[in-house]
Amino acid sequence: MEKPKGKVYLIGAGPGDPELITVKGRRLLGRAQVVVYDYLANKKLLAHVPESAELIYAGKKGGSQHTHSQTEINQMLVDHALAGKIVVRLKGGDPFIFGRGGEEIEELASYGVAFEVVPGVTSATAAATYAGVPITHRRFTSSVAFVTGHEDPDKKESRIAWDKLATGVGTIVFYMGIKNLPHIAENLILNGRDPQTPVAVVRWASTPQQRSVVGTLADIAEVVKEAGITPPALVVVGEVVGLRDVINWYEQRPLFSKRVLVTRSRDQASELVEQLEDLGASCLEGATIALAEPESWQPLDRALAEIATYQWLLFTSPNAIRFFFKRLADLGLDSRSLKGPKIAVVGTATAESLMAHGVRADLLPDQFTAEGLTAALLAQGVAGQKILLPRALKARDLLPASLGQAGATVEIVPVYRNVRPPMEAEIRQALERREIDLITFTSSSTVTNFIELLGLGEAELHGLLAGVKIAAIGPITAATAAQAGLVVDIQPEIHTIPALVAAIAEYFARPAP
Ligand code: SAH
Repeated sequence: MEKPKGKVYLIGAGPGDPELITVKGRRLLGRAQVVVYDYLANKKLLAHVPESAELIYAGKKGGSQHTHSQTEINQMLVDHALAGKIVVRLKGGDPFIFGRGGEEIEELASYGVAFEVVPGVTSATAAATYAGVPITHRRFTSSVAFVTGHEDPDKKESRIAWDKLATGVGTIVFYMGIKNLPHIAENLILNGRDPQTPVAVVRWASTPQQRSVVGTLADIAEVVKEAGITPPALVVVGEVVGLRDVINWYEQRPLFSKRVLVTRSRDQASELVEQLEDLGASCLEGATIALAEPESWQPLDRALAEIATYQWLLFTSPNAIRFFFKRLADLGLDSRSLKGPKIAVVGTATAESLMAHGVRADLLPDQFTAEGLTAALLAQGVAGQKILLPRALKARDLLPASLGQAGATVEIVPVYRNVRPPMEAEIRQALERREIDLITFTSSSTVTNFIELLGLGEAELHGLLAGVKIAAIGPITAATAAQAGLVVDIQPEIHTIPALVAAIAEYFARPAP
């Protein structure tokens, strides 16, 4: 049999924001058997790689800290491809712009290895854009140059024609220019560029860690030094930088640079995280709850077999719906087998999850809490009725207890259970390093699990969380937090994720007290 043919895809990862990779690049990541990735390529992109793929960190932090030398990297690509593997070489920005992509491809070609190259959004355009600077503009410039700032300033013969560059090009963007910035600014001025030309320096562009400063050619080196800006950063020189006052959109989003710890179950956090990140926040997801199937499906299966004998079917969370309908499907059934009982839900998110299965709730309370649902059901009169409540095995007893007191028979059937994953070291570390501005809690169990997982006494807990703001989705969650001695700073009036996000944005929009 012929050996499988390997191939190398050299892919631009884009400047930082993981959504700035091309559609093609992302698709090819899904085919990778080996991925060799750089320091500047966002690690979040590795989520698109099949779990079976081998991941190799190639390093490249500039200077001598390279994890693998360029020769080693070239050899790795060749070896894996010749072994028949689909190899993705993932590089920050565009692979052919100061990325040594050309050298890697030359090497592959010399061994006859098949390859393709997928361009990426280069950091120069992204940094300018995300700092509110259009790199060309009809009123200010009709040319742009991308220049390496890495060149040794003591080199006798520069490969950069400073005399032509200084006045011959409108906008000049320097990559790798932080160390040599004084020399760069000086060279431009000496060669005739106006010392008052505006300059922007952007670090970690298009990521939540982005920082930018502005100055003029005359003072930018000093400004950067004072601000403590270190690589990776880009230097944008030209009149267009002046437009930043009007266009600076990215850094003006309400939650820009806020670091939020989102405590939710792994498979549930995305909605909250997505909405917070859309407003500029940087989220760390702490899975304080993980959900698993119940020990036994027997109680639910039995109830389903006689579903028509119930007057009500209650859902108190989207998770309950997810597990309930999963079981239904596994039994070869669908929503048509739910004929008989009326269906009540606790709030809009639960109603939407139900709707996703093609089922409309008959009852949605005005208040999206267990109390609200209890009141709404009591108002309907439940005496003598049979009520099915599929939910977590351990949960609050208010709803079944109140309905029971009113004369109903409530059957609780477990459809999932909470299991606690170990506290990720990353989260504890982030708290210790004071890298968290806000923690969100979206249920009482996220609070209790979070505190238990930290395993600290009250005084130590307060020390660790000093200065960290706390947001709770509703009054029950807030009460649980308060009981644990946490001060809740943010709590929306409506208990939904969008309302929580809006309350957080409003809180941070206010000037600090
Ligand atoms: N191929 C890459 C450039 C690699 S050279 C590209 O097309 O963007 C490495 C330099 O790129 C860094 O020293 C820095 O100057 C710049 N750079 C890359 N990503 C950056 C980012 N997110 N923010 C600021 N500068 C960045």
